[in-house]
Amino acid sequence: MDNCVFCKIVRGEIPSERIYEDTEVFAFHDIHPAAQVHFMLIPKLHIGSLAEVEDKHRSLLGEMMVLVPKLAREQGCMDGFRTVINTGRVGGQEVYHLHIHVIGGRDRLPAMIPHPK
Ligand code: AMP
Repeated sequence: MDNCVFCKIVRGEIPSERIYEDTEVFAFHDIHPAAQVHFMLIPKLHIGSLAEVEDKHRSLLGEMMVLVPKLAREQGCMDGFRTVINTGRVGGQEVYHLHIHVIGGRDRLPAMIPHPK
């Protein structure tokens, strides 16, 4: 997609701090990290959001899910991490190219959804 920021990152038209790339996927550090480790794993194929995923994307999504723990460990997440996929307006998605946030580091992350005690 011509004007998609993440497609531009994949094409090298916008600089990024790349941590992994293969024929199907690309991973890079978030420009505004929410924790000590915060990177994004994206498909090179432009898929607008998780809401647009179809049956034909099964193996691509499988590859991404298998890569997440490997890349998280390589980035220093030795004791867990959080994955987030913001989807659509209600999900607070800002960039409309499917991406998995992987967030972690030394410290326990705050609860994402507060639970009543
Ligand atoms: P989301 O709300 O899930 O769509 O999050 C989009 C994320 O992309 C945010 O965490 C941004 O900080 C990040 N982001 C936007 N532009 C860039 C960029 N050029 N390089 C790295 N991360 C970016």
